[in-house]
Amino acid sequence: MNLKKIGVVGAGTMGNGITQAFAVAGFDVVMMDVSEAAVQRGLATLSGSLDRLVKKEKMTGTQKAETLARIATASDVGALADCDLVIEAATENLELKLKIFAQLDATLKTDAVLASNTSSISITKLAASTRRADRVVGMHFFNPVPMMALVELIRGLQTSDATYAAVETVAKAIGKTPVQVRNSPGFVVNRLLCPMINEAIFALGEGLATAAEIDEAMKLGCNHPIGPLALADMIGLDVELAVMQVLFEGFKDPKYRPAPLLVEMVEAGYLGRKSGKGFYDYK
Ligand code: NAD
Repeated sequence: MNLKKIGVVGAGTMGNGITQAFAVAGFDVVMMDVSEAAVQRGLATLSGSLDRLVKKEKMTGTQKAETLARIATASDVGALADCDLVIEAATENLELKLKIFAQLDATLKTDAVLASNTSSISITKLAASTRRADRVVGMHFFNPVPMMALVELIRGLQTSDATYAAVETVAKAIGKTPVQVRNSPGFVVNRLLCPMINEAIFALGEGLATAAEIDEAMKLGCNHPIGPLALADMIGLDVELAVMQVLFEGFKDPKYRPAPLLVEMVEAGYLGRKSGKGFYDYK
């Protein structure tokens, strides 16, 4: 299986980052979103990101132009018909992803591989909705995609060895370090990271220490580059809560119950940096 031509569904935060990573590495990519306006917004973000690389002399102007020339845009799944690998990076919503998977399954070549960048939806469930369950896999990238080295490659129950080997090869070809993970709620990184952040919120809620002290303790005591509460503000408290709910529901284990303070902060609309207020003030 040689995955040469790449399709990306969704031109948002992750989709345009994934497109950039593949195009910079020399792959032809078709980036698709719901409308021409949405896909052009993604392309503008991507172009701005390449401009910063040129400014830092990590890329020449010619290389930028060559990278952009490898990217085609579309607002229809039909444009992805001849792709060998399509990575779905649309909004996190099961019904939406099932609809997109059905469209892609009907449109793509029979041997094409279908990947999802989902953070929380079961790859096994997405695979089962298609007629190519053995050729469905999770490719969970990290934000910002061009900067982050890791990609979790998620094997659904049906994912074949050949499919896994093919996506592992492309992941390495774009300079990422893949980690093989069995399909399971939260995969590896969110399964470990989000409960740690949740515990920090419990500690804050119990008055163990102030937010600044909890963050300082984890930075100095564990050599973390950023404290868990400042990190929660960066990730978005709504996203942190959603992951905890996925873990809680998925394992039915009370150790994953969301901290009451986290639930209340989200109810108040205190979502972290993006709302101007979280555990810290950003106004
Ligand atoms: P986003 O909101 O920035 O982008 C989602 C894009 O999908 C939007 O541009 C939207 O118009 C588009 N879209 C919606 N319906 C579509 C359709 N039918 N066809 C094509 N495009 C459609 O979201 P994001 O942060 O880029 O997240 C995308 C996926 O990546 C989600 O599954 C999310 O869980 C996952 N993810 C996000 C992060 C992160 O840090 N943001 C990290 C890892 C994985």
